[in-house]
Amino acid sequence: MRRQFQHKIKRIVVKIGTSMLASSHGGLDNRIIEELVNQICSLAASGKQIILVSSGAIASGLAEMGLKTRPQDLSSLQAAASIGQSILMQRYNDYFKKNKVSCAQVLLTWEDFCQRQRYLNARNTVDRLLEYKIIPIINENDAVSTDEIKFGDNDKLSALVANLVEADLLILLSDVEGLYRTKKDDIISVVEELNDEIKKLAKGTDKKLISRGGMISKLEAAEIVMHAGIPCVIANGKTKDIIVKILEGQEIGTLFLPKKDKLVARDRWIAFGAKTKGKIVVDDGAKEALLKKGKSLLCPGVVDLDGKFVSGDMVSIVDKNHKEFARGISNYSSGELKTIKGCKGKEEVIHRDNLVITVKE
Ligand code: GLU
Repeated sequence: MRRQFQHKIKRIVVKIGTSMLASSHGGLDNRIIEELVNQICSLAASGKQIILVSSGAIASGLAEMGLKTRPQDLSSLQAAASIGQSILMQRYNDYFKKNKVSCAQVLLTWEDFCQRQRYLNARNTVDRLLEYKIIPIINENDAVSTDEIKFGDNDKLSALVANLVEADLLILLSDVEGLYRTKKDDIISVVEELNDEIKKLAKGTDKKLISRGGMISKLEAAEIVMHAGIPCVIANGKTKDIIVKILEGQEIGTLFLPKKDKLVARDRWIAFGAKTKGKIVVDDGAKEALLKKGKSLLCPGVVDLDGKFVSGDMVSIVDKNHKEFARGISNYSSGELKTIKGCKGKEEVIHRDNLVITVKE
């Protein structure tokens, strides 16, 4: 059976995980890189815009350092990434050059997604590279940031990038065929809604010697882009011509369908682009006013808060059970809010224009 994407797919973010790129003898698997670069070049020649989010810096750095397993301490991992990133880029450069295509390195950190100006700068850079028909290759700036090292192997980063560049599709490539239902060979073809039942299937994914990031972080990535109106495919990057096959609509891997009520660009940044610095706990009345009446968050509705933030920071808005249902930009610092929370006045804690509902009930 063929899959039909709802929109024309032109701009695609392809994430390549460590599990795919690392060779069994240590270091990078040149054959895989070459095969992927060739696919990307032929797609680019046919008018597609491909943005690559590639891991592999740590894996390649570890080999250079003579280490066979992943060290536990962050500084060693960051050092490995610093060593490996240039080796990784050199490898990409060589294979892209063979195809007479140029590529460029873009290293990002969480801060680049938190501050709107830096977010827009990153977007402009990628846009300009694509205009020049240069393939952007993005990785986390691991030497100064550790989010993906600790958790996701660039899964979440790739979702934020897809959001940033307003991609038409996110493809997460690793060494798994897709999301398995229960048995090894039973892959879910299409996921329409990421409910708890689906999320449970991701639990207990294996720990690996060199790479991080399992199905849990992949589903989190899928969830971010689904909200942004972007479909996502999780598939095995070692399958021949995998990207081409996905774009042809072949039923391969797991496809996560986008939500219909897609958020506008700035709201997407509020909801999923930036990292939250704290939580504001609100009462039931405020929750209802935000969810059903489209109101701003006012001081009397705030019952508690968590974390340290300053005015202008992104915060998560949670109900009394600490379940997040909205995000927004706080007008007050956590210190100020502590002193005024619950007050009767009409002080506006988060203006409606700076607030987005993330979970409608
Ligand atoms: N950004 C990292 C890399 O490129 C992520 C992978 C990891 O944590 O192993 O190596």
